[in-house]
Amino acid sequence: MSSPANRIDACVKRLRSGGLVAFPTETVYGLGAVATDENAVASVFALKGRPARNPLIVHVDGAEMARAYSANWPDAAQRLADAFWPGPLTLVLPRSERVPSIVTGGGETVALRCPDHPLALALIEQLGEGIVGPSANPSGGVSPTCAEHVRDSFSEDQVYVLDGGACVAGIESTVLDLTQSPARVLRPGVIGPEQVAAVLGSPVLGYVPGEGSDIRSPGLLGPHYAPRATTRLFTGQDGLGSLRTRRPGPAVVIARGAFEIGPDAQMLRLPSDARGFGAGLYAALREADGQNPALIAVESPPRSAETADERAIWAAVLERLTRAADAG
Ligand code: AMP
Ligand code: MG
Repeated sequence: MSSPANRIDACVKRLRSGGLVAFPTETVYGLGAVATDENAVASVFALKGRPARNPLIVHVDGAEMARAYSANWPDAAQRLADAFWPGPLTLVLPRSERVPSIVTGGGETVALRCPDHPLALALIEQLGEGIVGPSANPSGGVSPTCAEHVRDSFSEDQVYVLDGGACVAGIESTVLDLTQSPARVLRPGVIGPEQVAAVLGSPVLGYVPGEGSDIRSPGLLGPHYAPRATTRLFTGQDGLGSLRTRRPGPAVVIARGAFEIGPDAQMLRLPSDARGFGAGLYAALREADGQNPALIAVESPPRSAETADERAIWAAVLERLTRAADAG
């Protein structure tokens, strides 16, 4: 493989000529295009089959670049950027004129984040401007957490893949709306409302499915994160048993604990800690789906956790799995 510098050069060229580049971040792989290039952004929507009203996140290399894309940059944004960037926190702010309306789904706000991955940061720095970066997968499916996942969906002609290894967080960023007061979590992620509130020194509204958050963040409507196979959550051995009775046939069980799975089933064990589970979840869902089972049974996250970090991650995992299960 050529050196990282050569690969970044190739990506920058491709982006400047209106092409698409899949890039690694700490959350999932993004499908990158120059944010101000409306045609390139249109091809991101087309390739993903993403509804036009589902806005994209603009990825920047820091707060200074973020300011160019937002009409105002409140003190709260600066404090959160200082505390969490680079990192998995996306800030929704009023957009500046620089942001084409195709990026914002026609809305007046823009979502901004600085990804915590050396290749992503090098790419944005060298390009000198922001790139959109929705998850590099067909809309509605399971997000990619390694280069191979991206290649499973798209050809090299469609998308050049900048391989940066496996994503360490494995769950999409927290989306935080700073245009309302108090700030509100529109999509849960590994940074939870408790951590945000601690930095702001003021209350933050947590994610509530089906409340205002869905309307303000249209991408959060409907099924998402879904394997093709029927996916269901279970709790405990009895829960798994009744699920398998209701959905007979070959199954893949994704679990933290040990379970009696019976014949006709396969077990994929994930780490029992929140971080490890979150990091491995999408790869496990993809592997399970590859078996074409009648059922993917996933062990529910624990109901309580000791630290704010763990609570945030489990809440994000639960939201993704609930959406995956809603799909069918
Ligand atoms: P993805 O890029 O696939 O991780 O999805 C980005 C998420 O951010 C989607 O849920 C979008 O609805 C949300 N988002 C992006 N821009 C905005 C915005 N301006 N206001 C609210 N939510 C947004
Ligand atoms: Mg996505």
